[in-house]
This record gives sequence, C-alpha cells and structure tokens, in this order.
Amino acid sequence: MNTHTTDLLNALGVPSSAYTGGTLQVRSPIDGAALGAVHEASAEDMRAAVARAHAAFLQWRNVPAPKRGELVRLFGEELRAHKADLARLVSLEAGKVTSEGEGEVQEMIDICDFAVGLSRQLHGLTIASERPGHRMMEQYLPLGVVGIISAFNFPVAVWAWNSALALVCGDTCIWKPSEKTPLTALATQALFEKAVARYAGAPAHLSQLLNGGAAVGEAMVDHPQVALISATGSTRMGRAVGPRVAARFGRCLLELGGNNAIIVTPSADLDLAVRGILFGAYGTAGQRCTTTRRVIAHSSIHDELVNRLDKARAQLKIGNPMEAGNLIGPLIDQAAFDAMQQALAAARAQGGAVSGGERALADACPQAWYAVPALVRMPAQTEIVKHETFAPILYTLKYESLEQAIALQNEVPQGLSSAIFTNDVREAEAFMSASGSDCGIANVNIGTSGAEIGGAFGGEKETGGGRESGSDAWKAYMRRTTNTVNYSRELPLAQGVKFDI
Ligand code: NAD
Repeated sequence: MNTHTTDLLNALGVPSSAYTGGTLQVRSPIDGAALGAVHEASAEDMRAAVARAHAAFLQWRNVPAPKRGELVRLFGEELRAHKADLARLVSLEAGKVTSEGEGEVQEMIDICDFAVGLSRQLHGLTIASERPGHRMMEQYLPLGVVGIISAFNFPVAVWAWNSALALVCGDTCIWKPSEKTPLTALATQALFEKAVARYAGAPAHLSQLLNGGAAVGEAMVDHPQVALISATGSTRMGRAVGPRVAARFGRCLLELGGNNAIIVTPSADLDLAVRGILFGAYGTAGQRCTTTRRVIAHSSIHDELVNRLDKARAQLKIGNPMEAGNLIGPLIDQAAFDAMQQALAAARAQGGAVSGGERALADACPQAWYAVPALVRMPAQTEIVKHETFAPILYTLKYESLEQAIALQNEVPQGLSSAIFTNDVREAEAFMSASGSDCGIANVNIGTSGAEIGGAFGGEKETGGGRESGSDAWKAYMRRTTNTVNYSRELPLAQGVKFDI
C-alpha cells in the first residue's frame, strides 16, 4: 500500500483498521496502485444503523436549530484545518487535478458556512386567516433519517451538500458513498467525528458511514424509517432507486445524469466561449454531471469556433493530476475508458468526425486509463449524442435559428445544465424564458459546469428533478406543517359552513 496515502489517512484521523483487511479493494485511478482494502457493510448492518440514526433523530430534533448549526460550524473548522490533506486524498482516489480536489473541499466548507447561517433562518410563513380571531402559519420541522447515496466523481462535496443542510434541519444522516471512493468517505467521517467530540451533548450516531456497493444502498432505500433518500449518480441508478422509495411513500431527491449543451450565437465573445467550453468539456476528464457534452454553434461562427476548440483541445496536458501543469487526469477505471471508445465508435458510425479519444500514457501507467480528450463534429444530433457518456467527449453541432438551437438543446432526455454565449440581450432572455432551456441550470456567458453552492442545484427530466445545496433546497430536508390557531371565543367553520345543532 502507498505510504503517502497511509500518511494522509493518519493525518485525517482514519485508523488503519478501517482500510486494511477488508473486501473492497481501492485503487488509485492515477496509476492503479492499491490504496486500501475497506470493510463493507451488510444489509443487516444498514438496518442496525438506521435504528441508531432514528434514535439519534429523536434527540437531535429537539435541539434548537442555531445550536445544531454550531456543530456544522465546528465541522467547517475541521475541514478548513484539513483542507489540503483531504483534497490530496480526493485527487488520489478520484483522480482530480490538485486545484479541483481543493475546490471540492472548499465547496464543503462553503456549504457548512451556508448551513450555519441557515440554522437561524428555517422560517415558514404567517398566512392571513379568513376567520376572525384566527391566525395561520406554517412551520418547517425536522424530517427524520436522511439516507445519502453519492457518486465517485464528487466523492465528498455531494455528501456535504446534503448532510450540512440535513443536520441543521434536525435530521440525522447515513451515508452510502460510491464503492470507488470509500477512503475519502472514511476521512470525511473521521473529521466529522472530531467536530462531534468538540460539541457538548451531541447524541451519538448523528451521521454514520456505511461502505459497500448497491446492495447496501438498497437496504437503506427500502427501509421505512429512512424519511428521505438523496441519491446522486447515474440515471440507471435513479431508475432503480426512485420507484422503490415511492413504493413505500418515502421522499426522494434524485440528482442524476446530465447531457449539457452550450449554444454559441453570432454575437458571442468567442474568447470567453472557448475558455468556458474547454473547461466545461474536458475539466475533470469529462467526469462531471455538469460537463459540457454538446456545443451548438451558429453556422456563421461554427467553423472558427470548432477549429479553435480542436486546436486548444490538442494542447491540453494529460498526466498525473497531482503534478503541476497537468489539466487532464485519468478516467476512473477501464470500464469508463471502454464506454468512451464505444461512444466514439457509435459516433463515427452515425457520421461523426472524431479528433482525439485515444488512450494516453499506456506505457507509463499500464494500470491507469488516461484518454486524449475528444471532439466530434456531428452532422446531426444522432442517438449517441443524446446519451451521457461519462468521459471527455464534446460533440459539435450547427444551427441556423435560435429556436432551432434551443430545440436541439432540449431534445435530449437529460435536463441538468445549459448555457448560452451571446452579447444579444434578446437571445439571452429568450434562452432563460419559459420557451427557452428546459434545464435546472441555464447560464449566460459562463459554461455549464462549476456551480456555486448559493443556488439550488439540480435538473429536470432524467436528471431526476431534485434540488440541493443553496436557495430554498433545505425545504426538502424538513416536513411542513400548517397550523391554524383560534384565539377567539367562537368556532367559525371555514368557507362559512354551518353545522349547528
Ligand atoms: P452510479 O450510478 O454508478 O453510482 C452512484 C451511487 O449509486 C453509488 O454509491 C452506487 O453504489 C449507488 N447505487 C447504484 N445502484 C444502486 C441501487 N440499485 N440502489 C442503491 N444504490 C445504488 O454513478 P457513478 O458512476 O458513481 O457516477 C457518475 C454518474 O453520476 C453520472 O451519470 C453523473 O452525471 C451522475 N452525477 C450526477 C450528479 C448530479 O448532481 N446530478 C452529480 C454527480 C454525478
């Protein structure tokens, strides 16, 4: 096992027993080196964890919300103190370049700050009653146990988006992280426990971590005492999870796949557009849910834009993401590389002209899967373009009218992120209007990827419809009650109904 990883895990407070001798083999996508063997939970372990989480909830829900916020504040302090180490572990385990690993931990810190402020703002409305001497109001009250399923590509930030809000909302959490990134989860849990140790009177089991594959997740999904399942991952996973939660009338927050497009109009600042598209398409080796997978460019600027993109694409430095200067790290595993090759073969068969896409660094890193970012000039939006391939592939398409561009952008089954580059205010407003982009995120002169935590994050259609992080996304983690209080000496019935004996 890599001693560097052991040092990092020690510094982050993870005992070696947690990542040795287990059945879940962890390998770094950077070079294929073994990083650990983590213990997997069973379905029975999950059921016991839910019972503990529910017992903790019964106490935590009665702690005043601003006091709950204090725990999240302490956790944010631990994250600040350990940011560099946790970020390096994210790079090692998920293959992110250093600044993106750091950015991921920064996002955790930011959502903690947001949640601390939120802990004093969980307010409902006061509503005018139609009856004299009556008052109506609504309250948001703690919901219960929140089950969090997360994907490999944001191995820790997505958990923080959920848990920071859930904890200030008075809920308790159980985390089933991706089986590809259990070490970052162990480290995050250890930092959370440090915060708990500094917080007087915290009930045990406010947040628990259970590593393992889909079967452990399913035990959580099916458990009637898990009030909310917040699941981030592929649409395939959402299709399995959504109906199971619905069958027991549980609440579900789904954050699934994206197939995000950028429209570039004749008035666009092409320098900005090239920068936005390059990072969006190839940053994180194309492994973000908000990755730019399609460019829809006006025919008058299409060739210039696409030629510039192609030239810049070929210059992106591929290599060890922890070495300065490299911008494109590895794909998570061989299956991801194979899926990329299959998509490129399909694109060729459907009339696409492919640049790039080959395997890189195979001699230096035979156990790792680096790919040259690909750009595919497509004659039309064929089937493969409508499919999310989780790899650095950018399809380019031409349009003539803005209506046609928006129709192409909305034609795919996914609905997460979208953007337009334009200097024409009419085009920008049309893109954001009711007849514009159908995505949860619609940006102007900024790319599709890299959302800030202040906004609600999520998308429509096969992306699942959930919203997390900022704005009023916290409401998903609470139950709403409507209260009517009669302070008169009469009992008038609503709508003037008479029921007198
Ligand atoms: P994945 O669907 O393979 O796995 C995601 C998680 O779901 C893992 O923890 C996995 O163990 C679990 N899981 C899978 N099947 C399950 C089941 N039947 N029951 C319970 N849990 C189950 O996804 P991945 O490869 O880790 O991540 C990539 C995908 O995630 C892409 O499609 C990407 O777009 C999506 N993603 C979406 C968002 C978003 O916010 N919309 C964010 C990150 C990633």
